[in-house]
Amino acid sequence: LEVIASVEPRIADATRQELADQRASLKLIASENYASPAVLMTMGTWFSDKYAEGTIGHRFYAGCQNVDTVESIAAEHARELFGAEYAYVQPHSGIDANLVAYWSILAHRVEGPWLSDAGVKNMNDLSEADWEKLRASLGNQRLLGMSLDAGGHLTHGFRPNISGKMFHQNQYGTDPETGLLDYDALRAKAKEFKPLILVAGYSAYPRRVNFATMREIADEVGATLMVDMAHFAGLVAGKVFTGEENPVPYAHVVTSTSHKSLRGPRGGFILATEEYAPSVDRGCPMVLGGPLSHVMAAKAVAFAEARTPEFQGYAQRVADNAKSLAEGFLTRGAKLVTGGTDNHIVLLDVSSFGLTGRQAESALLDAGVVTNRNSVPSDPNGAWYTSGIRFGTPALTSRGFGHDEFDTVAELVVDVLTNTEAGTNKAGAPSKATYVLNDGVADRVTKQSAEM
Ligand code: PLP
Repeated sequence: LEVIASVEPRIADATRQELADQRASLKLIASENYASPAVLMTMGTWFSDKYAEGTIGHRFYAGCQNVDTVESIAAEHARELFGAEYAYVQPHSGIDANLVAYWSILAHRVEGPWLSDAGVKNMNDLSEADWEKLRASLGNQRLLGMSLDAGGHLTHGFRPNISGKMFHQNQYGTDPETGLLDYDALRAKAKEFKPLILVAGYSAYPRRVNFATMREIADEVGATLMVDMAHFAGLVAGKVFTGEENPVPYAHVVTSTSHKSLRGPRGGFILATEEYAPSVDRGCPMVLGGPLSHVMAAKAVAFAEARTPEFQGYAQRVADNAKSLAEGFLTRGAKLVTGGTDNHIVLLDVSSFGLTGRQAESALLDAGVVTNRNSVPSDPNGAWYTSGIRFGTPALTSRGFGHDEFDTVAELVVDVLTNTEAGTNKAGAPSKATYVLNDGVADRVTKQSAEM
């Protein structure tokens, strides 16, 4: 920090403050974690300075021998950790991984066959008129993913996202009564819509998914099954999700982030079957530019950490702790989407406290509890104000929290929310954003959470 301060002291101060804030608060954002010092330090090396467009052994720049080593080791760890046929570790983030995956599937299933039908090897050899036809064909494909309010991600076909614009999209939800995935309804929708790509995976669904059933549905309609395991990769790596709950043996393509439950550096990666490997391997230059070699090195370190028995213990505690947190809420009368959890996410419906997600999120932050507001299925308050708060256990489990600590977290959260009232706007009308915290609660809870 002294080196940074000698150049721009305000950045050193902000960095110091971030550490202090992360230590003093309860980090319950389901997509965050605490990467190890080894992972953090690997990101701060001179690999940051190296350009390496292309793929292992086939670069558009000279002098990439050490990047080749790093990328090969990261890919090897990823393959062995997840039992995958092929791994691609270049994507800079989860969104990049999904974009590379979509374009790889399009290349494999649409572009390749189209070019061979046209008797052309390379699209540069196409006439302008044929190129227009290929473009129309690529832009005319169908994608079916989980809707945002049911727990899916923006990149799974949400209309305003590029995935909702580049494909004809359709979305599946959850059962309105139980909040659980309804595979029969999903199968019926897939049969009617006939997607090229069926996307499984979630950001806010507090339950496990049966990927064998997902694959069956994909096969019945001729779709490629893509699973986005960004959230639960740590639970797959740590062998908490096995058998039909492990997407790797069932999906054609699996995408992920490396920084959530997997506890690595910020980044993305893709696993694929041999069949899809050649197209995914063309991620750069198809979608990506120069890979972040320092981050690929840190991914290798994180994957190596995740291959240890210690990590398996950690992953099991993440899931056990989510159950403790859910029980803590339920015994205090709070309402949970799906009535509980069997992964690392707990989704609290805060409407029973008379609050929107926005009000609850802000009140909790005032008390040192860092969460994010989240839609609940068919949310009456929409995606901005929402009616839910999403909690995740990966970060505090990394800090060593167990059953008792998570029960206390539930107690503190309920304490804050029962002591928060919905506010009004300047004209005195009810507001979905403002709130009033009863005297003393923020100080009381902040003090308790800082001591945990
Ligand atoms: N996929 C899922 C399921 C996610 O939850 C997220 C992030 O929250 C992403 C992809 C995107 O990851 P990133 O923020 O690294 O682009």
